[in-house]
Amino acid sequence: MAGVSYPYPYEAKVSQTLFDRASLVTPGGVNSPVRAFRAVGGTPRFMVSGTGPYLTDADGREYVDLVCSWGPMILGHAHPAVVEAIQAAVVRGTSFGTPGEGEVALAEEIVARIAPVEQVRLVSSGTEATMSAIRLARGFTGRAKIVKFAGCYHGHVDALLAAAGSGLATFALPDTPGVTGAQAGDTIVLPYNDLDAVRAAFAAHPGEIACVITEAAPGNMGVVTPGEGFNQGLADLCRANGALYISDEVMTGFRTSRAGWYGVDGVAPDLMTFGKVMGGGFPAAAFGGRADVMGHLAPVGPVYQAGTLSGNPIATAAGLAQLRLLDDAAYEKVDAVSKEIQGLVTGALSKEGVAHRLQTASNMFSVFFTEDEVRNYDDAKKQESFRFNGFFHSMLAQGVYLPPSAFESWFVSTAHDEKAIERIAAALPAAARAAAEATA
Ligand SMILES: *Cc1c(COP(=O)(O)O)cnc(C)c1O
Repeated sequence: MAGVSYPYPYEAKVSQTLFDRASLVTPGGVNSPVRAFRAVGGTPRFMVSGTGPYLTDADGREYVDLVCSWGPMILGHAHPAVVEAIQAAVVRGTSFGTPGEGEVALAEEIVARIAPVEQVRLVSSGTEATMSAIRLARGFTGRAKIVKFAGCYHGHVDALLAAAGSGLATFALPDTPGVTGAQAGDTIVLPYNDLDAVRAAFAAHPGEIACVITEAAPGNMGVVTPGEGFNQGLADLCRANGALYISDEVMTGFRTSRAGWYGVDGVAPDLMTFGKVMGGGFPAAAFGGRADVMGHLAPVGPVYQAGTLSGNPIATAAGLAQLRLLDDAAYEKVDAVSKEIQGLVTGALSKEGVAHRLQTASNMFSVFFTEDEVRNYDDAKKQESFRFNGFFHSMLAQGVYLPPSAFESWFVSTAHDEKAIERIAAALPAAARAAAEATA
């Protein structure tokens, strides 16, 4: 958004130089699209270090971080105990291509926390987890079709990129080139929070639907809470129709409670997927669930799935160290920090008369610039997202790093202390004014 001046302009010279270099050798200068600031404009900040609730960019500016690497850094950056576990692991060697005790311990921790997970397989990204869970569901049921919901993001799996959220919500890409009709043709996309639509899909395709996959509580179109009984309704409809219910907890897992969103609503899925928090900032993810279903995976069963770096010893050490620190007190702290920031944000926007709606899923939250409840992707797209851009840049200029899109959850950590919260509070009045003054 060159030429637009924000209330607090400041230079990001080194970031700009790095971005120019990056843009020559990497498409768009980034390795994941939402990092590029395309929705909000301006120069993406290249970060050089993080400690607790703060990030420092290449120009030496410090920010209170409300992205937390899109969720994983729930203990803040460079938590000493996690760093220590990583350092202890790394000197023993970085990858063996054999089984190791760390991956057993991490799997045991996941199984102990989440009752519906009887067995789990480790992978390296959330995308791999959902891709593998879908393959397993198809292999187990012998059926081809899958149901997903518009605005739910499950990674960049070909079959799941139909009407997905996250970067696709930000850029309003209805679909993506490179996914063939055959790859997407077995995907049925339905509106979120609409059980009648799911019922109708099962009626229209009897015996053909392998699974329904949903974000346990969506955070990739902004935060949209599942309506009363929605997840249970999905589980019941799947059971009645011989399909598997897959709850994607890559974002909510180990964040929204000790047992993720399952710990909040208690609805037992057949399969679940995890990532983000469970890797402690490293590439570690997982899928798991019913032992009889997981028993269909190679090498015991016929459904093939593998990974050279799956269960990597550094990643599992980091993830395990983080999970072991995430006790009840830690979740109480994250929930309290989240509530306090939510109150400050809504207070500042209300004071400026900005129509908005704060939506939450436990300690995940996001602000929609609309007065109406957001129950699905169509509702989310009706917000005045141009107001977010002014708001975002004012916060950024004042040293608060928000997700660079109006369609993403904000994330906090146990490390967000009173000093960090005071800095957010100090930045909000001007940001709320920028939101009020923004024009489409
Ligand atoms: C982030 C996310 C994914 C994809 O995980 P990656 O590690 O980025 O591949 C999948 N599902 C949900 C719900 C997510 O939030």
